[in-house]
Amino acid sequence: MSDTTPIQHFIRTIIDADLASGKHMGVATRFPPEPNGYLHVGHAKSICLNFGLARDYRGTCNLRFDDTNPEKESEEYALSIQEDVRWLGFEWNGSVRWASDYFQALYDYAEELIRQGKAFVCDLTPEAMREYRGTLTEKGRNSPYRDRTVEENLDLFRRMKAGEFPDGSKTLRAKIDMASPNINMRDPVIYRIKRAHHIRTGDQWCIYPMYDYTHCISDALENITHSLCTLEFEDHRPLYDWVLDNITIGCHPQQIEFSRLELHYTVTSKRKLLQLVTQGLVAGWDDPRMPTIHGMRRRGYTPEGIREFARRIGISKSVNIIDMAILEGAIREDLEAKAPRIMAVLRPLKVVLTNYEEGVTASRSAGFHSHHPEFGERDVPIGPEIWIEQDDFSETPPAGWQRLTVGGEARLRYSYVIKCDEAIKNAEGDVVELRCSIDHETLGKNPVGRKVKGVIHWLSAKHALPAEIRLYDRLFTDPEPDGHKDRDFLEFLNPESLETVQGWVESAVKDAAPETRYQFERMGYFCADRFEHTPGEKLVFNRTVGLKDTWAK
Ligand code: ATP
Ligand code: MG
Repeated sequence: MSDTTPIQHFIRTIIDADLASGKHMGVATRFPPEPNGYLHVGHAKSICLNFGLARDYRGTCNLRFDDTNPEKESEEYALSIQEDVRWLGFEWNGSVRWASDYFQALYDYAEELIRQGKAFVCDLTPEAMREYRGTLTEKGRNSPYRDRTVEENLDLFRRMKAGEFPDGSKTLRAKIDMASPNINMRDPVIYRIKRAHHIRTGDQWCIYPMYDYTHCISDALENITHSLCTLEFEDHRPLYDWVLDNITIGCHPQQIEFSRLELHYTVTSKRKLLQLVTQGLVAGWDDPRMPTIHGMRRRGYTPEGIREFARRIGISKSVNIIDMAILEGAIREDLEAKAPRIMAVLRPLKVVLTNYEEGVTASRSAGFHSHHPEFGERDVPIGPEIWIEQDDFSETPPAGWQRLTVGGEARLRYSYVIKCDEAIKNAEGDVVELRCSIDHETLGKNPVGRKVKGVIHWLSAKHALPAEIRLYDRLFTDPEPDGHKDRDFLEFLNPESLETVQGWVESAVKDAAPETRYQFERMGYFCADRFEHTPGEKLVFNRTVGLKDTWAK
């Protein structure tokens, strides 16, 4: 698998043409998150696109925080975003940039617009402004304040900045066209009054620029060549272009839109993810069930697997609703070659080996990966009592059963063939223990005179280490939880999305560092929890993704 062979898409075609025609000598992109939440898998798509293009074309990609909404933004979010970009394997060009770095420049450009008669201070209330704006089918009407003189506008705007007016009492609006079929062009607000403490500029400003106005100017100030964003901004492009065409700035990036990633059985909206966190419906932004980059990381997803996923889903303008299986497949494929393989028993059933003989019954060593001898080997010790998976025994097995049943045989992986002689039950009639006998002639050899097909995983009871194992399922029971008009997405939360079991693992993982990944043979891929796993003390593993079980039934 390679995540460096780019798949051609329409944005690459545009870039190729721009380089061929000499319109640009290189590629400069940016990733512009708002620090108002943790990034999710959709952002991962955008990160892989922007940073990936910079890598492929030997260009640059800036990380720029769009910090124009002070009430919702925080340093915690900004730090988590930087961590995520780096964890995904990318590095931004130079230092982190902030739209707030440009507040003064943005203000100066606003005065330039006013001086040209292209912006005005408006006193309409938000409700009145909405009324004047018109609708999709109805033209808007000019604000009664639209014809203020340049001098009056400059004076009022300066006084807005100086804090003379209450929050929300005035706005600065671009003077474009109230009759435009595009509502974004109907004299959009470009500045508002808002007394809010800003994470970077503190209380220095009481007016803040709007996103559309800020974004295009920030792009131009950074000499971005291609400004890539999601499709909902298509209708904002005329405004992006209008602003840059009407100020003296000398750079005009091309905005190009692509479709948002949506993943089945989850939600990709920061607002909804925030709701899950604040209502305590998940354990936090980094809950392994969350589609956040932090959540995926904690679950054990790899940066390489996520990048490969992004490569496979491609970039286009058509609807991009992807099944979780595509993501899981990319992760599984990456882990297949990388994760050492050990045995773990998740739902233990005790087995007494009645003819175990000290000094006779022997252990073997086993490699950590059948295709990677360089991963090394460890001893797989056997003892008089072992754990097997409850599911690997059946009292009344279906036809073709190859695992244990009374009177039946199975091979213990890397060890002997055993035969189940007796099942011991408790008062409720549940099987609580098996009595099995070892065929001592079968260590590393086929049994004589019969075929034993089933192979089961197991652990020596006295050697195994206890571990808390967290089994994750989909967070939602519906493929499009937020796609129902009259039902809230929270109604579709999967009550069984987390099951915690107390299992056993091989002692070989005793000192595994947090975030070490393993394949637990026959059970799936697991990752030592980033925060709660303490090597040598408390072992906690998260199931990353299941396994296509091929070598045993
Ligand atoms: P949300 O809708 O989850 O709140 P957002 O678009 O408001 O996300 P930003 O922080 O503004 O979040 O996004 C940063 C960049 O990531 C933007 O360029 C945006 O277009 C892109 N992005 C956000 N969500 C997706 C998605 N689902 N698929 C692809 N790109 C996305
Ligand atoms: Mg946004």
